[in-house]
Amino acid sequence: MNLQIKSKVKQILTSDLPFTDKVSYRKTILLNTMLLFLLFVLLFLTIFNLITLHHYTTALFDFIAFVFTLEILGDFKRNNNIQRTSILTSIIIDILLILFVSNHGQSHLGIIWLIFVPFVNILPNGKNIGLTLSIIIYSYFYYLAYEGLGLWNDGYWNYTDLIRLMLSTSILTALVYLMESISEQADKELKKVRMREKVIMKKLNTQATTDDLTKMYNRRYFTTITPSIINTARRENEYLTFFIIDIDFFKNYNDYYGHQAGDEALQKVAQVLIEFMHRRNDFVFRLGGEEFAGLINSKNIEQTHRWLTTLLETVASLEIEHLKTKLDKKVLTISCGAFTTKANKNTNVNILYKIGDKALYQAKESGRNKIVFINEG
Ligand code: GH3
Ligand code: MG
Ligand code: MG
Repeated sequence: MNLQIKSKVKQILTSDLPFTDKVSYRKTILLNTMLLFLLFVLLFLTIFNLITLHHYTTALFDFIAFVFTLEILGDFKRNNNIQRTSILTSIIIDILLILFVSNHGQSHLGIIWLIFVPFVNILPNGKNIGLTLSIIIYSYFYYLAYEGLGLWNDGYWNYTDLIRLMLSTSILTALVYLMESISEQADKELKKVRMREKVIMKKLNTQATTDDLTKMYNRRYFTTITPSIINTARRENEYLTFFIIDIDFFKNYNDYYGHQAGDEALQKVAQVLIEFMHRRNDFVFRLGGEEFAGLINSKNIEQTHRWLTTLLETVASLEIEHLKTKLDKKVLTISCGAFTTKANKNTNVNILYKIGDKALYQAKESGRNKIVFINEG
């Protein structure tokens, strides 16, 4: 089949809805197919009864059913209410079957159409409602068939025929019910598996983007998310400040206090960073080792700079003892390089990092425990 036609058919039958779960997908296709087929049959019967058979009352009935079906389909397209559409579709088909078999009964084996009862009721409505509807409809038909023993319409009809009818339709109903039960159970299991997968995916995603020691975003997330932060700054015409922080004389700290104490100090510094960078447009990362980075979007550069200065002072005011620092005050300190820019289409992660790192280098060179700002634009 032509690809374009194929996709058009798919679009009509799936109501052009995105795939969310298998059950709704299956039922949407089933209902659209049933309703479209029904529309076609009813239109044909209306015309046939009107023009060829001159059965005007039947034609009118068929036409009314056609209008109802059209309304059900319209309602389904507008609201996508699967449950309501299922029950209405089954009821309209059941009514048509009842009318047909009541009038034609055994004539030309009209009763054969009864085989569709479990399909049209159980498949769209599920096993419970579907079975109930099937039993109601079949009970009525069995009653009709019982009443029709002997000569029913123009066909002969005896007990054996009745028993055969009851047995075959019951077995068919049981089979459809069984298939639907299996399918519903499989859907349930699949849903459970999906839920478990979702939880695992979320956990893996968190693991992939966060740093174990500090629970901050890691370098990978930094490279992933920064382009969109740059875009936000561009769109909102805000200043973007990128900063790199590096702990002063941290190698000496580790050598003197041990790696474990080093880790604890890293966590304390990280905690200050996290507390300072809590606004919606603030991001902070551990790039690796004792190096951190952050991004701030703001309208006011001075405010951002004051904020970073306070951050630096706050780390020093933790007064984490650092006897091996070469600075006068024997506490753990950090140095920071900050680059503020009006982001444009050339701004990218590499440029931010390069200039931020240059500023950090200057902060280290000029005595540490300080910030060097580089502003552009
Ligand atoms: P500077 O002031 O110039 O930054 O000196 P520094 O000693 O801090 O610089 P350098 O980059 O040479 O040393 C970084 C040290 O950080 C090396 C290592 O001992 C320590 N370090 C890096 N990652 C970790 C970590 O995950 N845990 C601990 N405890 N220490 C780390
Ligand atoms: Mg370093
Ligand atoms: Mg360092």
